[in-house]
Amino acid sequence: MAQINSHYQKLQAGYLFPEIGRRVRAFAAEHPEAKIIRLGIGDVVLPLPEPIVAALKTASEEMGRRESFKGYGPEQGYDFLLNAIAAHYQRQGAPVEADEVFVSDGSKCDTANIQEIFATQNVVAVTDPVYPVYVDTNVMAGRTGPAEAGRYGNLVYLPTTAENGFDPPLPQGKVDIVYLCSPNNPTGAVMPRASLEKWVRYARENEAVLLFDAAYEAFIREPGHVHSIYEIEGAREVAIEFRSFSKTAGFTGVRCAYTVVPKSLKARNDKGELVGLHGLWLRRQTTKFNGVSYPIQKAAEAVFSPEGQKAVEANIAYYMENARIIREGLTTAGFTVYGGVNAPYIWLKTPDNQSSWDFFDKLLHKANVVGTPGAGFGSCGEGYFRLSAFGFRENVEEAVRRIRQGL
Ligand SMILES: *Cc1c(COP(=O)(O)O)cnc(C)c1O
Repeated sequence: MAQINSHYQKLQAGYLFPEIGRRVRAFAAEHPEAKIIRLGIGDVVLPLPEPIVAALKTASEEMGRRESFKGYGPEQGYDFLLNAIAAHYQRQGAPVEADEVFVSDGSKCDTANIQEIFATQNVVAVTDPVYPVYVDTNVMAGRTGPAEAGRYGNLVYLPTTAENGFDPPLPQGKVDIVYLCSPNNPTGAVMPRASLEKWVRYARENEAVLLFDAAYEAFIREPGHVHSIYEIEGAREVAIEFRSFSKTAGFTGVRCAYTVVPKSLKARNDKGELVGLHGLWLRRQTTKFNGVSYPIQKAAEAVFSPEGQKAVEANIAYYMENARIIREGLTTAGFTVYGGVNAPYIWLKTPDNQSSWDFFDKLLHKANVVGTPGAGFGSCGEGYFRLSAFGFRENVEEAVRRIRQGL
């Protein structure tokens, strides 16, 4: 009899988005006239910019001609894209080599798969609230104990709340792997430079590895904030960085992302010897992954062209204006709001200590607006609520109008 990977049975039910869907459907069935506005899920709405569509089309045509057809490409990505990414890092003051970059079909898979190259005994730390992928993939790998009251055993939770400015505190003791996400989903907070310097120092002193998710770096509006962990001195020895075209360039349905594993990053094997992680990740990717399709990589390359950058920046500015409208509208309405300045998420305190699900229901029933209960991201998310700036302007304005009029 085949046996399952029993660690999967430790997973808490994938509760959040199905439950949101269930409540919204039930409400819509009772109130067919209600015009429901969805600011819940973190997905882009604007179409792909023209320079990117043009590159996608041209590359697709190339695939249809004998002289330019391409079969399997390099697993890590084509040189044209790796070089464009390295040049972009150079411009951002965070130099990385083109062959330290690994192109993939998403940061979700990369942040999920990266744990495979680490031993099961590693102690992992995550923030609370957290992007659930980091947690669930470590549960699946057997790196945690069973869950109790929403928290898994052996996992170190770092509370990020209004009290600490949503800046993850260092763990009490020694951990081996730390997931950080800045700008943050869901809190919308960006980690200050000094905090990242502190984390790099911690990692160096404790031989820990930082897994830095920078999926939202392009949404940073205020100058002076860190876009890449490699802007921090010493990070090349302790950090892996994940970036994605998904939110930056509207690629959630196109699928392209990249991960940087510096060649200077090492960890120990079971004999205590130092081993480069770059070689392990290269081996993992070349064994289990056959690369992103050529047309998609050409589309991604176009993101870095001057016209591509301009078009992508216009879309980001559109979303960040939405964020400003939500943030200021809700502040005027008396809410305490966080985020929305350097990230497309507004993280609000539920009024009168309402539970985040109670607030969800109230918002749905009284304003017909859908958001995401903070409790779905971890126990420290209880008492908070996420609104996404990924929507059409008219819907965002209408949502804010309704919230101001009627809660
Ligand atoms: C959206 C998102 C990503 C990107 O995921 P893709 O698989 O590249 O679409 C990564 N990390 C976080 C925290 C996200 O919210």
